[in-house]
Amino acid sequence: MSKSVNVAIIGSGVVGSAFISQLNGLKTAIKYNVVYLAKTSSEALYSSDYQSVDLSSYKTSATKPTLGLDELLKFLQGAKKATILVDNTSNASIADYYPTFIKAGISIATPNKKAFSSDLKTWNEIFANSAVPGAGLVAHEATVGAGLPIIGPLRDLITTGDKVDKIEGIFSGTLSYIFNEFSTTEKSDVKFSDVVKVAKKLGYTEPDPRDDLNGLDVARKVTILARISGFEVESPTSFPVESLIPKELEGIESAAEFLEKLPNYDADIQKIKDEAFAENKTLRFVGQVDFKANKVSVGIGKYPFDHPFSALKGSDNVISIKTERYPNPLIVQGAGAGSEVTAHGVLADTIKIAERI
Ligand code: NAD
Repeated sequence: MSKSVNVAIIGSGVVGSAFISQLNGLKTAIKYNVVYLAKTSSEALYSSDYQSVDLSSYKTSATKPTLGLDELLKFLQGAKKATILVDNTSNASIADYYPTFIKAGISIATPNKKAFSSDLKTWNEIFANSAVPGAGLVAHEATVGAGLPIIGPLRDLITTGDKVDKIEGIFSGTLSYIFNEFSTTEKSDVKFSDVVKVAKKLGYTEPDPRDDLNGLDVARKVTILARISGFEVESPTSFPVESLIPKELEGIESAAEFLEKLPNYDADIQKIKDEAFAENKTLRFVGQVDFKANKVSVGIGKYPFDHPFSALKGSDNVISIKTERYPNPLIVQGAGAGSEVTAHGVLADTIKIAERI
């Protein structure tokens, strides 16, 4: 008889729906029995006898109210079977519940950054709980660089004794696009505010572009990589994060008014770009973990025209990991967002967990 595991899926948005369709088309020796699917915070599919949810018709099947987290834990434990919870939301309450799931033997695969980039106590609790025999496993490759292989390879280096010297990267697809368009190796007069407007039109930004421009999303990803490398970062706000939002525009109510006033500040960032260009450098929005300088930071960096970061195109992410074993840094580059690549990262984690539990 082939091995089978139970799977509970929370969320069926951009990543969740791609995950469901990839899982539905999966051909592996292990059988994935989806016993619970919370489509939204109010609608879920499950049956009290743990019948597999039909993933080909989940969009139209009759639903029941979504279970609260205590009830969900009880339901999953009742099956008395190896179980993986896949959290495809950005919900903080679900993330806060991970240590309880893990302690109860339920494994977690997720692209949700919240649990791994909040306070250090939660991080330590998750991994301490997970190390206990019989506890659930945790995998979160897609929390940094979506489906790009970053967290797995970095963990492999650390657990086998390598030491990180410096991690440097462009971790936001939105800010990658904005700076790749704004600051090029050819002279250009394109205005920062115009690039932000185009990025919003193309759907690359959050509904309010300030949620990208404040640097916090990058800070969360850098927090995760710093912690994996052994840098005990307290929180994503415990180190310098440069915001691209002019101070005067921080308190403005609407995104529309923000975009209308942003051109008034173009001259400031244009000056920085022109100074970099005179040194044959581009501007890029980067996150850094620098062990030599004992520093974690997020902000604008200047890179020579022949540096890999200057050659970046579109909305790609790129990460450079310099270690004792890789003094010439290991560089990973590619799409750092998108439904299919993110879902594949989460599904690959789910499969790796299923092989081990
Ligand atoms: P989304 O907003 O499209 O989907 C989230 C879904 O979760 C929604 O359908 C929502 O109804 C559901 N949800 C929220 N709370 C719930 C609850 N309590 N119970 C059940 N369902 C609930 O977002 P997304 O783009 O799919 O992103 C999902 C996660 O993946 C986020 O954590 C995001 O940061 C991460 N991520 C996304 C990308 C990407 O390219 N979209 C890349 C990397 C990581």
